[in-house]
Amino acid sequence: MAEKEIEEKVYKSIIKTIKDVPLEEYYTSGHRTCQGCESALVMRFLAKAAGPRTIVIGATGCMYVANTTYYTTSWVVPWVHTQLGGSGAAALGTAAALRALMRKGKIKQEPINVIAFCGDLGCADMGLSGVSNAMTYDYNLLIILYDNESSANTDIQETSMTPYGAQTSFSRPGKARRIMKRRWKKNVVPIIIAGHRNVKYAATMTPAYPLDAINKIRKALTIGGPTFIHSLDPCPKGWDYDPKFSHELGVLAVETGIWPLYEYVNGEIIYNEPTKSIVEGRMKRKPVKEYLEKQGRFSHFTEEDIEYVQRMVDEMYEEWEIPGVMPIKSINVKISDK
Ligand code: SF4
Repeated sequence: MAEKEIEEKVYKSIIKTIKDVPLEEYYTSGHRTCQGCESALVMRFLAKAAGPRTIVIGATGCMYVANTTYYTTSWVVPWVHTQLGGSGAAALGTAAALRALMRKGKIKQEPINVIAFCGDLGCADMGLSGVSNAMTYDYNLLIILYDNESSANTDIQETSMTPYGAQTSFSRPGKARRIMKRRWKKNVVPIIIAGHRNVKYAATMTPAYPLDAINKIRKALTIGGPTFIHSLDPCPKGWDYDPKFSHELGVLAVETGIWPLYEYVNGEIIYNEPTKSIVEGRMKRKPVKEYLEKQGRFSHFTEEDIEYVQRMVDEMYEEWEIPGVMPIKSINVKISDK
């Protein structure tokens, strides 16, 4: 498709108000996720945004275990389970098979969405090489990282997506050492866009902003592949809070600046609200304390720990060349005279 044609299609695919969101559900009742699970909302949004001509591929994780228990499933569209690290390969194989079948005239030529979803381990840790490989081809596929910041379905183990200092079953605070998780969370969208020239669209989202999330999924599917979305999903079980605060925590993650909302399209970074207002200086970020103190996983934090996280987030907006996105503080081009 020509660039102009894609732009027109993307424009037409955008849903303007929440009242215009399709009523049809393709991820429906019957799943067994925890009360207040925001990852279940991601599944609902992706199915709603994509519609019935869609194949969904799910790596092992909460959204596999909870959605396909004992011969039942909440998926109304075709759904495939793949191994924990297999979503990149499975998405690539499915998209390539559809293209070959259409080319040979075995199935009708029509747009069929291929969406693979994977959690922290399945996408950002052991599955990253497969996802990276899928991003180097030109097949139409979307990979969604649903990030609940732990290996939640096997009892909240630490992953590379677990935030600094958070308690997990692998990082309990001890007497000798209060902070057991000392590594900073991996920044996946910049890895994808910096390392894969073929990627046509990438974005961050959180289900607390439903229209933003649904439209990002629709844009990715309309632009074609390969495309990638990283969603931050509050998880009552792993983050240790009352399920009624799921939405509030998603909003706080964005308003404190911990989770910036942006899109990468045609080589440009486009900030989405309210991150846009934060970056342009029209909105003040809320203190990270408001986000951290609502979660039991940070209950061992001292004022010093909170200040450390605040300093790290301040740096993202005050010192990075691309605020909230790339940890590059300056570009200094030196030409060697040797
Ligand atoms: S453990 Fe977390 S991600 Fe998994 S189903 Fe429960 S709330 Fe959802």
